[in-house]
Amino acid sequence: MSSIASDSLNQTINLLSELIQNKCINPPGNEMNSIRTIQRFLEKQGVTSQVFESAPNRGNLVSRIRGVDEGPKLMFGPSHVDVAEVKNADDWDEPPFSGFVKEGYVWGRGALDMLFIVVAQVQAFVELHCAGFQPRGDLILLLVCDEEEKGKYGMEWMLNNYPDLVETDYAVTEAGGWPLEPGKFALTIGEEGTPDSQNTGQDSFSLTSPVKSRFVDAMEDAVKKEVPNSTLVPLTMPGRTDAGFLRRKGSQVYGFALFDPETKKSELAVHGVNERIRIKTLDLTVRVYINLARDFLKRK
Ligand SMILES: [Zn+2]
Repeated sequence: MSSIASDSLNQTINLLSELIQNKCINPPGNEMNSIRTIQRFLEKQGVTSQVFESAPNRGNLVSRIRGVDEGPKLMFGPSHVDVAEVKNADDWDEPPFSGFVKEGYVWGRGALDMLFIVVAQVQAFVELHCAGFQPRGDLILLLVCDEEEKGKYGMEWMLNNYPDLVETDYAVTEAGGWPLEPGKFALTIGEEGTPDSQNTGQDSFSLTSPVKSRFVDAMEDAVKKEVPNSTLVPLTMPGRTDAGFLRRKGSQVYGFALFDPETKKSELAVHGVNERIRIKTLDLTVRVYINLARDFLKRK
């Protein structure tokens, strides 16, 4: 199993702690705090990005590595920086907005849903940028606000106002990558819940992305490089995420990450008490995003 240099892993951990400490509980969100934190982080590594304020102190960030040939576009994201509220802070072993690093974990609300993916995607994007990566098609980084309240100021707003910036063929985002059994990891292809089905009878959020494709193979290969002989198991998830907005536009969107194979079920409770993420999961997820982009967007 490969491991990123400890300097870059440490900087990824520090960014995750800072985003947790920013406490972007939605509502009200105030996600511009974390969007600016990430913009500063990118700037320090020489990566330029655009920030779009959709409402006071609500915002979204886009960056891109331009493709040099004709080729499919791949998005890291849409990844949301807002987090759910904490109802029972007294039940936590560590304060929920501490961002503490302890015994191989980063602690706090949002660590799992979905700030570890936000920072893994930012770090992977930075590493590819710094290495002079020249993809066939564009590699896009998209960070959004407001997912926990259905995306009105986040993904939906970006699609309505800047469709050209967020249009993509493929996207990888939250809700995937946990171990199901030894050597098998979850790959989320769609959602079962829909915010609009009750009103319109239209199940636009229940669209699913293909189970078999060159892209799915590339995701599996990216995982195999880190955990040999493993496979991805496609599944649908209850609830909604921003993935539905892009699937509706024809993008193929997957919940994709790579958890430490030793992760216990109790560590996967979304919006739960003692939310935390293994540093090993953070490390592996950075690796699989880099592997995926390098393989899938490789020039012929
Ligand atoms: Zn989420």
